[in-house]
Amino acid sequence: MTIGYRMRHDESTNREVGRTVIATQLGQQPADLTDVRATNLAVVLGYVRGHAPCSRADIAAATGLNKATVSSLVGELIGRRLLRETGQTERRIGRPATMIVLDGSPYAAIGLSLGPDELHLLAVDLSGQQLLSWHRAVRGGAPSSVLAAVAAQVKRAQTRVHDEGRTVLGVTVGLPGLVDAAGAVRVAANLGWRDVAVRDMLRRTLGDPAYPVVVENDANLAVLAERRYGPYAGVQNLVYLTGGPGIAAGIIAGGQLIRGGLGYAGEIGHVPVDPAGPECACGRRGCLDACASVGALLRRLGRSPGDDRSPGDDLAPDVDDVIRRARTQEPAVLAALRDVGRHLGHAASLLANILNPEVVILGGHYVRLAPWLLPAAQAELADRALAPDTGGLRLVASALGTDAAAAGAAAHVLDSVDTGQLPLAASS
Ligand SMILES: [Zn+2]
Repeated sequence: MTIGYRMRHDESTNREVGRTVIATQLGQQPADLTDVRATNLAVVLGYVRGHAPCSRADIAAATGLNKATVSSLVGELIGRRLLRETGQTERRIGRPATMIVLDGSPYAAIGLSLGPDELHLLAVDLSGQQLLSWHRAVRGGAPSSVLAAVAAQVKRAQTRVHDEGRTVLGVTVGLPGLVDAAGAVRVAANLGWRDVAVRDMLRRTLGDPAYPVVVENDANLAVLAERRYGPYAGVQNLVYLTGGPGIAAGIIAGGQLIRGGLGYAGEIGHVPVDPAGPECACGRRGCLDACASVGALLRRLGRSPGDDRSPGDDLAPDVDDVIRRARTQEPAVLAALRDVGRHLGHAASLLANILNPEVVILGGHYVRLAPWLLPAAQAELADRALAPDTGGLRLVASALGTDAAAAGAAAHVLDSVDTGQLPLAASS
């Protein structure tokens, strides 16, 4: 894992005092008056996350909350072991002030991304320090057996963090497909799944745990990771394109994750880009997925699905092979990479014309292929985007590598704490 897990301050968690709406990363939710204290606790936590070490007086001055309220809120957060006092004091006129920092060491957030060939589990503490990072091959098969393998990894991680005296804050699982509000997968073409009650099955297998279990589209989680970590952290209009067996978009517009009416937004992989193109896993012809996904690139260059490899195999060795052949200037490989780049530029132009994003990030296996993809992609984007200078859009490769979805899954658990769903005091 190459990314640093130090949290950055996220402006979207910095709410104005006295607002009756909690702006969360997943949209706006009405809050009744009983939530005001939870909101204020989250405001204090969010401020300390961005500005630690800081004093109670700093928190009061920045948030507009009065000093007695801040003292009470800080006391509660210390009681829940989310904050702690340091020995440091700040020299000021009058009494020295005790400094406050994030604690959160008694907690662990577990994030997991599941693909057709691999699962990746990450655990981080509340300050974002990485505790565990496991990659496991997945053998495919029926959803029940794949989810049993997922649950086994979660249980193993839970045992590990419990043994270290930590409480699990939550588990978020990302996968490539349409995920509804109940955490069920409606369609996941590249997993071959349809109507699978993923969250219910996982909860049951995990023995109905006290912590929340959330299932989310992996592109949505990857874009949350990009918004939280790395060079595009804090960008308010950001799109992430997954570079795996299929292609989907995670979209943040105006600082908010765009999920759409039922949670199905971002399936750019099934936008037609070439009427004469290859048949797609969805049954249609010429989808972006069939023309420009990493899976499609590998098929074009000689890997046929289910032919030379079992479904449990990783794409990485084949991507290595493509890179080796590109470096030797093999004409068929260079032409295939140019075509994929051109289709990605076309996709970026659709995003530019509809959403005017500041950054479109090529993720997953596209990252290592980017030196060959980006020139054609940028030329196509410039040709097709209506706005001058592509509306300010930068088309770039991710700095988070292939781990963005798992990092985003763990970040999703931390986001829920930052937006007011505080854990009970750590019991162990
Ligand atoms: Zn399709």
